[in-house]
Amino acid sequence: MLSAVETASNRPNDKPGDVSGHVPLRPAVEALPPYVPGARPDPGARVWKLSSNENPYGPLPSVVKAIADAALDTNRYPDMYASELVAALAAHVGVAPEQVVVGNGSVAVLAHLLAAVVDAGDEVVFPWRSFEAYPIAVAVAGGRSVMVPLAEGGRLDLPAMAAAVTPRTRVVLVCTPNNPTGPVVHAAELEELLAAVPTNVMVVVDEAYLEFVRDPEAPDGVDLLRRYPNVVLLRTLSKAYGLAGLRVGYAVAAPRLADGIRAVSTPFGVSHVAQQAALASLLPAAQAELMERVEALVAERARVVAALREQGWDLPESHANFVWFPLGDSTTERAAGARAAGVLVRPFAGDGLRVSIGEVEANDAFLEVAKSWR
Ligand SMILES: *Cc1c(COP(=O)(O)O)cnc(C)c1O
Repeated sequence: MLSAVETASNRPNDKPGDVSGHVPLRPAVEALPPYVPGARPDPGARVWKLSSNENPYGPLPSVVKAIADAALDTNRYPDMYASELVAALAAHVGVAPEQVVVGNGSVAVLAHLLAAVVDAGDEVVFPWRSFEAYPIAVAVAGGRSVMVPLAEGGRLDLPAMAAAVTPRTRVVLVCTPNNPTGPVVHAAELEELLAAVPTNVMVVVDEAYLEFVRDPEAPDGVDLLRRYPNVVLLRTLSKAYGLAGLRVGYAVAAPRLADGIRAVSTPFGVSHVAQQAALASLLPAAQAELMERVEALVAERARVVAALREQGWDLPESHANFVWFPLGDSTTERAAGARAAGVLVRPFAGDGLRVSIGEVEANDAFLEVAKSWR
């Protein structure tokens, strides 16, 4: 039997002042790629922030009031299952409340749905380049990322994704529009993928930018969900609804899957303030005003893309609130140049730049920068 003294002497490499400790992290965690957030302005600097696909409009006065009112209840826990918000989202989407699961941003909901279905070593198929949270979330869940290269024009290669499915595959992630390149998948090609993939594989359709899509061939996620019970929709109030700072996302799924996702979700994961802000944003008058803003951003996207074409750029077709410049090796240098010119953009080193659609003046400032690159 070990005495306390012997146990203490067994501590490896204990040196005075060594404060990092010896607790091993999981190898999957040691190997995680860092999530690189969009650049933030230096304090006091006057720059346009086009680096995080944020909505440039501040919250509606009615939403600010809901937030202020909700602040008075901050000593209380929120409604654990956000029942009122879930009911409002279900009505909004046109499904039953038991099909909706909310979380602290849709990245949290993604983590929860992976936790619900991925066992150690299971495979998750997704496009690449795509949302940088995907490989991190898969590794944290203990899964193995199977990254399928994009096709021409920054589009998802759905036949290649279907072909990448093996008996170990538990989940396929379909990002549409794809962040950071912008194109949507079309209904017909998504149907082909769903027909090809075994029905015990979850197909997650990440529709973070749904409200910005203007392609008539884009899929109707809710219709797919009705016909394919292995489909899960992932949506958020961060982008079109402008609530990125409050963290509200949700999944829409068959009731049994929704139950599973709910079971592994962080208790009280969506704050009362966030729930009330989301509810206020879903009221018909607020909704109408928010969708007018989305319409204005879509018009700005068209204006920016037309001006870039005029400058001679040939870019992927974006149905989101950003545009993608496949600049390869010059990406990092271009991003630094944009920053020096007062515009923050999002570089993916060696690959390309993503530039969010912001306020008119911000977009004008960026168009000047893009012109200087020709
Ligand atoms: C922004 C984004 C999300 C949403 O993240 P939240 O956690 O809801 O803010 C999800 N998926 C993609 C592809 C995104 O770009």
